[in-house]
Amino acid sequence: MSKILTMLELQQKLNDNTNGKGWENGLTAQGKKIDWRRCIYLEAAELVESYPWKHWKNIDAKVDTDNVKVELVDIWHFVMSEVLRVNALGDARDLKELASDIEASIANENVEYLQDYYAQIEAIEELIEKLFCNFELVDFTATFFRLCEKLGLGFDELYSLYLGKNILNIFRQEHGYKDGTYIKVWNGKEDNVVMQEILANNSNIGADELYKELEKSYPKS
Ligand code: MG
Ligand code: MG
Repeated sequence: MSKILTMLELQQKLNDNTNGKGWENGLTAQGKKIDWRRCIYLEAAELVESYPWKHWKNIDAKVDTDNVKVELVDIWHFVMSEVLRVNALGDARDLKELASDIEASIANENVEYLQDYYAQIEAIEELIEKLFCNFELVDFTATFFRLCEKLGLGFDELYSLYLGKNILNIFRQEHGYKDGTYIKVWNGKEDNVVMQEILANNSNIGADELYKELEKSYPKS
């Protein structure tokens, strides 16, 4: 299965579970307003804050490259949510079809990493411009993937980070996270370290497989 499709399906499930079915219409089950575009631009602001862009403060600070990846993954959750919403309220295309359109739009591309961090910040701002001035769901998703490449996050790594975070959250919920019985350290290693090791050994792993691998490693009490 395509990695894009896997992620779109996981995000749909995550939103159905956390906001209630029908969230695409703009309200959570509790009646709270949802605005994914606001989520995107504010996470993009957090991303910009990973750079020492301020001319008046800490002018010799380094780029926080780990945080760049964290914020890109945060943005990715909201990009997919907005894409799913616009699709559901518009053409309501099958996710399989949508995923293959997105794939086709980035096929055979070779986007270069930008050495200059000011150029990286400009690329982030171009995404925001598209979000508000020129939004189209396939083009926007492709632009997001290009941004990731420009900032040093390859597609496969984005997939691993997203999948890992998503599946571990589900796994925790289904193993007593809420009632406090969840075991966080597995034979001396934290759960997310175990998950990263599984992903490092198999970057093409699917959602169900990853869940099963976690199940195998989880200490039986
Ligand atoms: Mg301030
Ligand atoms: Mg964030």
